[in-house]
Amino acid sequence: MTEEIKIPEEHPRAESLPIREKLIKHFKSGDVTSAGLIAHGRGEALDYILGEKTTQPALKATKAAAATLLTAKHPVISVNGNTAALTSKDIVKLSKITRAKIEVNLFHRSSEREIAIKKLLEEAEATEVLGIGEAASARIPEVGSERRRIDPKGILIADAVLVPLEDGDRTEALVRMGKKVIAIDLNPLSRTAQFATVTIVDNIVRAIPTLIKVLNKLKTKNKKELENITSTFDNKKALGEAIDIIHRRLSKLAERGVYLPILEVEEP
Ligand code: ATP
Repeated sequence: MTEEIKIPEEHPRAESLPIREKLIKHFKSGDVTSAGLIAHGRGEALDYILGEKTTQPALKATKAAAATLLTAKHPVISVNGNTAALTSKDIVKLSKITRAKIEVNLFHRSSEREIAIKKLLEEAEATEVLGIGEAASARIPEVGSERRRIDPKGILIADAVLVPLEDGDRTEALVRMGKKVIAIDLNPLSRTAQFATVTIVDNIVRAIPTLIKVLNKLKTKNKKELENITSTFDNKKALGEAIDIIHRRLSKLAERGVYLPILEVEEP
């Protein structure tokens, strides 16, 4: 068991440290892999650079993602270890609002991990979890990893798939299969972010609750209004804006160097 660490609210890492602890706990129980921990580190580094908050381009992408899910006939949420460890409750809420199916899809697939992740989702009150064991009997063409295995009742027939923390190969293949792919990825340069139809460049722990809020606002809109949101969204532009935020923030910080209130220590 990971020891509970009490972090003062004013600590600059008050939000990120408990997330790390949560992932370590789920790594020890086998839900998260060592590669998942490394992926989180990549994401966290980009989150520092983005300022650890939801940006305007991320909000715009979230609105397009919500409209895509609301207009889809067969929306599916693909869940991996990190996603289940960090946001199972919100994933279940999201699936209820959008009537999206939940499917477990793992790069490092083993029946123990599949079952452990299914259990996490069921503890969060998921009523149906697809993609477990033999149920993942269909295959995505041209994907070499275990992520090619999909459920004929889920991703195979989906027209829109939400893929938080995905790998690039599968995103590209899903888009090639004609599906709309919504990615949540803090790295606007990852292949996933680049290939997706809608990329939300934000931390999953903020992105899913924001998506739920936006869905609650948009769910009363009619089909035409929702389709207008999706057709006017330009993912290339949104990615460019996210990269520009990184660029401008780093330029500002570069001018100042030290930006934390660090005390000047006098030479003895
Ligand atoms: P790609 O194959 O898409 O080029 P990759 O090789 O980095 O990227 P993965 O390891 O599957 O593929 O990527 C996981 C992605 O998830 C990384 O881009 C990482 O920045 C991002 N990520 C990690 N943790 C979070 C998080 N909490 N919220 C959002 N994104 C995250």
